[in-house]
Amino acid sequence: MTEPELSTEERVERSAIAAAEELRATKAAERPAWYSPVAHLLAPTILGLGLCYVGVSQLGELNWLDWLSIPVFWVFSNFIEWHAHRDLLHTNSAKLPSLYEGHTLNHHKVFPAADMAVRSRAEWREVLLPPLAVLMLLGLLLPVFSIFWFLGFEILALLYMTVGALYVLSYEWLHLSYHLDPAGFIGGLKVIRFLRAHHTVHHNPRFMKRWNMNVTIPLWDWVRGTTADEEVQEEAPRGS
Ligand SMILES: [Zn+2]
Ligand SMILES: [Zn+2]
Repeated sequence: MTEPELSTEERVERSAIAAAEELRATKAAERPAWYSPVAHLLAPTILGLGLCYVGVSQLGELNWLDWLSIPVFWVFSNFIEWHAHRDLLHTNSAKLPSLYEGHTLNHHKVFPAADMAVRSRAEWREVLLPPLAVLMLLGLLLPVFSIFWFLGFEILALLYMTVGALYVLSYEWLHLSYHLDPAGFIGGLKVIRFLRAHHTVHHNPRFMKRWNMNVTIPLWDWVRGTTADEEVQEEAPRGS
């Protein structure tokens, strides 16, 4: 029996899945025996929630400006996420090659758009940020925190730290949720299905450098007009 003729897109998809199988096997062979996916998720979670606890426990009474700063800091984090994803994780820069390598050359290739789910918890290693990257992201909260603090806006400083730490955690938790079994309890939640659809389009190499750059809530994609709707997906060149 002759195989039905495949479209360019189907051929590209099949070869991406075949390449992913090979890379998955390589990653499994490289994974150290001591690797614990639960510890990988819990370490940044405990650290982030610890920072939030410290931040919230030091807060006094909030005025209207303090309350207003919470959504402002969240939008700022969403803007940073969009830029960091596009300009650091998908741009091959000589200064930070490990970010490009870890994200574009590994994460995207291990999980092609047509096969996004991890097959075991051990593969969380290919989804979650390396512990050092989490420390770096939390450390990057320090300059703005210090500016607010030394200018005498202690409450704004604490709120900035709390919102920033929660944002980093929401990135980790949500991103992992998109790569869980879509038929499982978390993967099957309506909100995760909606957000995963956005991220799945981004995992397609045709869109990953320019479209759907938000991993959490796609607000900045909406602001920048970088949501790949059906029209964009239809018109983008195939087979790249
Ligand atoms: Zn992903
Ligand atoms: Zn990406």
